[in-house]
Amino acid sequence: MPNTPVMDGLIRRTVQRQLPWSVHVDLTYRCNERCIHCYLDHEDHGEMKTQEIKNVLEQLAQTGTLFLTFSGGEIFLRADLFELLEFARSLHFDISLKTNALLIDSERARKLRELSVRKVQISIYSAEPDVHDAITKVRGSLERTLAAIRFLQAEGLQVKIACPLMKQNLTAYRNVQALAAELGVPYVLDMTITPKMDGDMSLLQLRSSTKELLPILQDASLNPRACSPSSLEGETISMGSATSSGIESQAYEDIPCSAGHNSCYISPYGDVFPCVQMPVATGNLRKQTFEDIWFRSEEMNRVRAVRESQLPICSKCSIRQYCERCPGLAQMEGGDLLGAYERACELAELNARIAGVANPVSAMHAEKSNSKNSRSIPAPTVAPEVRIGSN
Ligand code: SF4
Ligand code: SF4
Repeated sequence: MPNTPVMDGLIRRTVQRQLPWSVHVDLTYRCNERCIHCYLDHEDHGEMKTQEIKNVLEQLAQTGTLFLTFSGGEIFLRADLFELLEFARSLHFDISLKTNALLIDSERARKLRELSVRKVQISIYSAEPDVHDAITKVRGSLERTLAAIRFLQAEGLQVKIACPLMKQNLTAYRNVQALAAELGVPYVLDMTITPKMDGDMSLLQLRSSTKELLPILQDASLNPRACSPSSLEGETISMGSATSSGIESQAYEDIPCSAGHNSCYISPYGDVFPCVQMPVATGNLRKQTFEDIWFRSEEMNRVRAVRESQLPICSKCSIRQYCERCPGLAQMEGGDLLGAYERACELAELNARIAGVANPVSAMHAEKSNSKNSRSIPAPTVAPEVRIGSN
């Protein structure tokens, strides 16, 4: 989303007043695909019922939410999806959806348009059916998803392609780019592969190494750091995170991101987190009101109190401007919401090198190599003289 002074001012006010203006709600974790990189447990462990979700939506409207994203799992597996959309519409939210689109036909596309859904984000892993279908583990899924995109476009709905990149589809970004151009839709390449919700780290093996990512990061049409500043004017930046809003703002200057400041995440079971990518449980909507959790949860306020300038390692980092550190991933991968983590440091060093910085070293790597060096200094054979008092 473009960052205009008006938008900046709005974001600033939402942060100052702690308005939860952007809320991501997963309606279900069930899914009709089995993507190899998916971090969810697809069993239904007691999703909120229709009336419970309506109640949550009412509370969000009262607390100041404007942007509402319904996601999952696959949202079209909820039999009450259109009832919920209609209800959300009556509360005047700006509604976006994230879906694999397998269940969208022309009739459903028409209904989405009638309900004024603003944007539908759809994952595509490659323009080659074999590659896409091997990731979703559903034969024919690319064909069905593309058919759905055309139904949505025929209704004039705004579609965006999200392409998570991993080893299996690393070279597919070119054909996804071409596909997006052919369809006339924006796209985002997302290099984020996260651990599973239960903390299982095995999915991280699917990530491409930073060396493998080099050609993508060097592509000036994708990475602003690979361009001269003048060549960026009017460019759509196509790398980012498919989970976050992608809104950059001065208002986030000394805070790590929007999580807990003006955005949050609600699970199908009513659990509230600062972000879908930040596993800090702050409360449950079956037991507490949204206002209670949002304004008064100790955990939410702990996340909210974090300032970039106080981060123990990252605040001292000379390549901070090249880093896309996510506090949620810092917690999941490094075990510390305030800490640095390997993947962010590697990518920041790569980005800095691409931008022309000679020998960039992250603060975390510098600290590690300093402590290694100091450990490897041989112990003196003669104890140093200890002098107490003055001469
Ligand atoms: S926790 Fe990570 S994904 Fe979530 S808003 Fe912050 S930076 Fe973005
Ligand atoms: S590069 Fe590493 S140390 Fe530097 S800001 Fe990013 S996560 Fe922190």
